[in-house]
Amino acid sequence: MADSGARLLEGAPIANEIRTAVAEDVATFTAVNRRPPGLAVVIVGRDAPSTVYLEQILRGCTKVGVHAEFVELEGEATEASVAATIRAVNTDPAVDGVIVQMPLPPTIRLRTVIDAIDPSKDIDGIHPLNAGLLRLGYDGFLPATAHAAVEIMRRSGIEIAGRDAVVIGRSAVVGMPAAFLLVKEDATVTVCHSRTRDLADHVSRADIVVVAAGRPGLVTGAMLKPGAVVVDVGINLVDGRVVGDVDFASAVVVASAITPVPGGIGPLTNALLLTHLIRAAERQAAAHPRTGVEPGMTAPTIQPAPTAPTAPTAPTAPTRGDR
Ligand code: NAP
Repeated sequence: MADSGARLLEGAPIANEIRTAVAEDVATFTAVNRRPPGLAVVIVGRDAPSTVYLEQILRGCTKVGVHAEFVELEGEATEASVAATIRAVNTDPAVDGVIVQMPLPPTIRLRTVIDAIDPSKDIDGIHPLNAGLLRLGYDGFLPATAHAAVEIMRRSGIEIAGRDAVVIGRSAVVGMPAAFLLVKEDATVTVCHSRTRDLADHVSRADIVVVAAGRPGLVTGAMLKPGAVVVDVGINLVDGRVVGDVDFASAVVVASAITPVPGGIGPLTNALLLTHLIRAAERQAAAHPRTGVEPGMTAPTIQPAPTAPTAPTAPTAPTRGDR
């Protein structure tokens, strides 16, 4: 509970519960399949700000017994070599899930990369097949951040069905999937974006506000309906501090519940990604009981595609501490 009376929706306690359950599932999977679930994280150059976030994912995987590793290409890698590397990872039987570093260098078209990912290993739900399944309300892999934005409310006992929700942001990875998930939970959803004429008016009528715009201070307490639930997905670096898209100080005195930044959606996103991975691993083990992986093997042996430059570059200083 925050000083004001608004309930603080922290991601870490929920994430810890999830990780404990995942660790048990990983142990069972490893015993049955004689290999741990495997995650490959394809990165193109180590200097992207998201590398820090991806390193966090790797550490989180190691803690629960998942084998995770970077598959590195140099920053100058071509689109074709990135796609070829992803296709090589797709066929590696020791890899159950693939994540690709975002954003990619501007020379590489996102669509080419997304299309190259095997949908059954697409644990962050970016392939068109998984996006389509979500749109139709069927089970597929969900983008982990959007999943976290809704899951934090569900696991905190917040009623979603029948309530008016506003999602600010319409990106394919956060805003739109969050909106579709809220519709699936029976909310009445309005999606706002940079061309929305009167954002404050929409926000003032919402019982639930999910903000994913990447604009610090976009939503203030004065815009909120008293008692609104506020989920702040934004991550912005302001004066060396990580802040969200919501002006926390003014919002916390009006909202009934609010996620902090950092410490809200970020930790839960990483934990949910692990649940997606174990699900992918179990499905693949069921579909291909004999994977060709030698008993006792503990590490995927991923070779970047022949055309891909492979020399790793030095890690850079952290620039993004939460996601
Ligand atoms: P994005 O692709 O840049 O999309 C931003 C969206 O916000 C766009 O739809 C944009 O509208 C809208 N927008 C921008 N300014 C606006 C304004 N003034 N009023 C209303 N809408 C506005 O960003 P993203 O990838 O979805 O990420 C959104 C935020 O979430 C970022 O801060 C990012 O760092 C953060 N994030 C957090 C996590 C996590 O785990 N917590 C994960 C991923 C991203 P248009 O479509 O009209 O341009």
